[in-house]
Amino acid sequence: MREAAQEAGQEGILRRQSARESAARTYARALPIVPVRARGMTIEGADGRRYLDCLSGAGTLALGHNHPVVLEAIRQVLDSGAPLHVLDLATPVKDDFTTELFRTLPPGLAERARVQFCGPAGTDAVEAALKLVRAATGRDGMLAFTGAYHGMTAGALEVSGGAPSVRVARLPYPQDYRCPFGIGGASGAELSARWTENVLDDTKSGVRTPAGMILEPVQGEGGVLPAPDGWLRRMREITAARGIPLIVDEVQTGVGRTGAFWAVEHSGIVPDVMVLSKAIGGSLPLAVVVYRDDLDLWPPGSHAGTFRGNQLAMAAGAATLAYVRENGLAERAATLGARMLAQLRSLAVDHPCVGEVRGRGLMIGVELVDPGRDGSPRVGSRRVGGSPRAVN
Ligand code: PMP
Repeated sequence: MREAAQEAGQEGILRRQSARESAARTYARALPIVPVRARGMTIEGADGRRYLDCLSGAGTLALGHNHPVVLEAIRQVLDSGAPLHVLDLATPVKDDFTTELFRTLPPGLAERARVQFCGPAGTDAVEAALKLVRAATGRDGMLAFTGAYHGMTAGALEVSGGAPSVRVARLPYPQDYRCPFGIGGASGAELSARWTENVLDDTKSGVRTPAGMILEPVQGEGGVLPAPDGWLRRMREITAARGIPLIVDEVQTGVGRTGAFWAVEHSGIVPDVMVLSKAIGGSLPLAVVVYRDDLDLWPPGSHAGTFRGNQLAMAAGAATLAYVRENGLAERAATLGARMLAQLRSLAVDHPCVGEVRGRGLMIGVELVDPGRDGSPRVGSRRVGGSPRAVN
């Protein structure tokens, strides 16, 4: 009886959702689930079924759902009587968050870091980063990569792979399986780097010295594509030598997910600007841009947002950052990720529908192909052309 009632309740909610919500909704179309409870990696639906959550809020839940330290941090703020909304005023909660965040930053940036609290979404922080480097350099153009995803607001869309823009020069992101040069590996990455160098140095390339370069150390929505460390170091050298600020978008790769606290640590590069969101809010909305102090040349009010002082998110975020750091969860993600990659790759041997298994730490993607229909020619184990895509 109870199960039938639960099932009926769920059906009603799903029916009303599809009647009332927008055609632009995404996951809701494919997953007829009505989550009512969640803990760790498990979500429980209104129908009483339990689901293993492999989405992790698109990279938001570094500690899983409703981790006790996150709940406790939120409760403490609620019980203290602290204001929940303060625009960008200083508070003890924000002070703690900033201290914890700076503690985690890559050496080289940490000592000279400034932080701007942005509107609550990753895309707000991307907008801020683009504005910051434009203000600091007095230049306008931007270098960005094929397959990139930086958000849905106008500026962030411009630097994403899906939207054409006259202000953005698009460069090839290195990848093995669908290498644009058809060779993949270190040689493919080297050609990507040379192309970048050439675009900047050839006075007839049609690209003027830009205000900045923006990249993801592992492309997330682009299909979980980890950039080789050597290529990232080349991007750092190329931009540094030409006075171009390097913006690294760690919205999806941050807080231990790739097996290092920040994904840039794998290559050892120090970006000029880092864009952070998702997991830094401990499951609540929070986004910041962190940058070297000499870039701090924009005037007051250059970037604002009513919800840039979300105290509950800062408390949940500080607790999450501290827990990941103190418990060595990045190292754990590296160990578990290596094991998982190996196991998934061994499965791929017997399943031709698995095109490639790739990733870093626990940020893992399995590219599924239709072996009969996917006509793109293989070059060794690589494919030429086409674009993998994850959907946020
Ligand atoms: N940058 C990256 C790398 C992302 O993966 C995303 C979201 N998937 C964003 C920016 C935008 O974040 P938000 O959806 O919170 O605006």
